[in-house]
Amino acid sequence: MGSVEPLIFSVQHFCLHDGPGIRSLLFFKGCPLRCIWCQNIESWKPEPEIAFKAHLCINCGRCVEKCPEHAFSEVGKRNSRFCRYCFTCTDNCPSGALTRFGVSRSVKDLMEELRPEFSLFKTSGGGVTFTGGEPTLYPEFASTLARNLRTEGIDVALETCGLFNLEKSKPLLRELNLVFFDIKIFDDAQHKKLCGTGNVEIKNNFKYLLDDWRRNKGPFIWPRLPVVPEITDGHNNIKGWAGFLRELGLTFLTIVPYHPMGANKRRWLGLPPTRELRIHTEEELQSIKQLFFYEGIKIYKPGEENITDYCTGS
Ligand code: SF4
Ligand code: SF4
Repeated sequence: MGSVEPLIFSVQHFCLHDGPGIRSLLFFKGCPLRCIWCQNIESWKPEPEIAFKAHLCINCGRCVEKCPEHAFSEVGKRNSRFCRYCFTCTDNCPSGALTRFGVSRSVKDLMEELRPEFSLFKTSGGGVTFTGGEPTLYPEFASTLARNLRTEGIDVALETCGLFNLEKSKPLLRELNLVFFDIKIFDDAQHKKLCGTGNVEIKNNFKYLLDDWRRNKGPFIWPRLPVVPEITDGHNNIKGWAGFLRELGLTFLTIVPYHPMGANKRRWLGLPPTRELRIHTEEELQSIKQLFFYEGIKIYKPGEENITDYCTGS
């Protein structure tokens, strides 16, 4: 997928939780992992997708009427075998019940969309964060966009699942100041079972990036752990990651509480439901924080990271 142009499935403005200052987030479509708790299921496939949100449908019948391929047997029932993704149906749906995920955007087009916010990024110490999906699947496009932004004095950060081709990603990494690096399940076999791949390459990439930062050759790296009930919140997982970080000389981590946003998206995209997961209580989150504290790791909430303190070498 190296030289392929990505699809962008969302651009979110005025965000406060994904890097310093006020930021815009660009969501790249396509991800190499398949975590069973994923809240951004629309990010998995690199291809465009069409979601049907039944609760928004006003039953006007336009989708059935306008589809040139007669792909709808009835309202909300689209046969993907006949669909050629022309998006006539989504363009004509008056209520937003049919939603398109994934639009091809040029670097120039994205620069123009973001340009009105440049002064806000600069005054707030913010910038643009590439997220997804996995932006490193598109190293050429992402590095060109990041270079264009940096030329205009705009800071660029990356959120990554950690599974990427290091050599191909180097031009992108060189354009970044900060990488939020997701860590999930410490045990390789469990990672494979619940995220679709093992984690050896992810751990190696983490170590490489940290080493690069220490040699003043790459962006600062900040680990983030999604805390998912009965999956990533166990004592062994906490001890495993805390030991991993400590051995590398890191004493900080952001935990991202699980929210079951993915369940609706699964339904909208016609995917089968997955294992039901609950939400942690505030007390449970506190005790997770406490466990990390006993292991020598200070926990942060998304958006509250003291990046400058650590970045300057505490
Ligand atoms: S995307 Fe085009 S071909 Fe597919 S269902 Fe919609 S209108 Fe029909
Ligand atoms: S066009 Fe949209 S609102 Fe109208 S029937 Fe189709 S899905 Fe429902």
